[in-house]
Amino acid sequence: MAGSTVNVMEIRGLCKTFAPKAKQKNYAVFDLSLDLREGEILGLVGESGCGKSTLGKLMLRLSDPTRGSVVFLGEDITTLSYTGLRPIRRRMQMVFQGSTNAFNPYYTIRRSLEEPLLNYRIGEDERERVQRIATLLENVGLGAEFLNRYPSELSGGQLQRIGIARALILDPALVVLDEPVSSIDHAVKNQILNLLSRLRDERGNAYLFISHDLESVRRICDRVAVMYLGNLIEIIPRADELPRHPYTLALTAASLSPDPRKKRKSTVLFKEGEEMRISRTGCVFQNRCLHCRPLCLVERPPLLDRHGGHMVACHLEKVAYDENIA
Ligand code: SF4
Repeated sequence: MAGSTVNVMEIRGLCKTFAPKAKQKNYAVFDLSLDLREGEILGLVGESGCGKSTLGKLMLRLSDPTRGSVVFLGEDITTLSYTGLRPIRRRMQMVFQGSTNAFNPYYTIRRSLEEPLLNYRIGEDERERVQRIATLLENVGLGAEFLNRYPSELSGGQLQRIGIARALILDPALVVLDEPVSSIDHAVKNQILNLLSRLRDERGNAYLFISHDLESVRRICDRVAVMYLGNLIEIIPRADELPRHPYTLALTAASLSPDPRKKRKSTVLFKEGEEMRISRTGCVFQNRCLHCRPLCLVERPPLLDRHGGHMVACHLEKVAYDENIA
């Protein structure tokens, strides 16, 4: 299913600014185009504040874009009214970071999972709904004995599984997972990653896996998209393929080294002392890039496919490509 070429979602020219009337617009997401395919797990990585979560919310229309379109299962959801969105919402769900606070502490697990079914009038009667919930609990590695428990009685890993179950109960075509394994320990993290991989294989949903944990991304994602200050700067067609953009290379080097001293050294791949800030012209990464050259200051590199689906927004790529075909 991961090899499917059918798009569940097509995003074109998506922009989001939180101060649309300000003189200099501050874009959380800028001119971003991306496809999400049926049955794939697409990783979305980047530092905190780069716009990953904002993009996730725009994809589900939990936030309105400033410009651009999001086509989900053939329909542009950016122009739909609240009423028009209602049937669509059933097919796209989100799992939030830190499931501990995502549940009403006064509801049993059964009630929390039954609510979406009741909202969409799914299931002939109570018996059928409970059966559906119990089956899903089995699917996420828990059992029917969890039906009458309260969130406070569950561990972080169990709650994260319940969060995934709640996202899947309406049988969505797309699930956005925002840092789903960031607040759980290593052993449970592995279980959750295996679970997501298995559920994708069994159900064929598409997942957007937002994370700053590159190890997890490499483990379960098919493709990886990289964001920097609201811009999409690289799409890696296979998660185990090496990145090419100087920013992703630095990010990867910083995350790979198990030795903290080496880790500090590897971050020298960024210009030291420079903060994430966007320039009005040229490459978005110019003030931190060790390879910056005069062209990078005046011309923004487009995101282009030069390596069999590997898309990179960097002038160095253009130079390498031009030299190769000369
Ligand atoms: S375009 Fe220039 S500044 Fe930007 S990443 Fe490439 S080399 Fe660095």
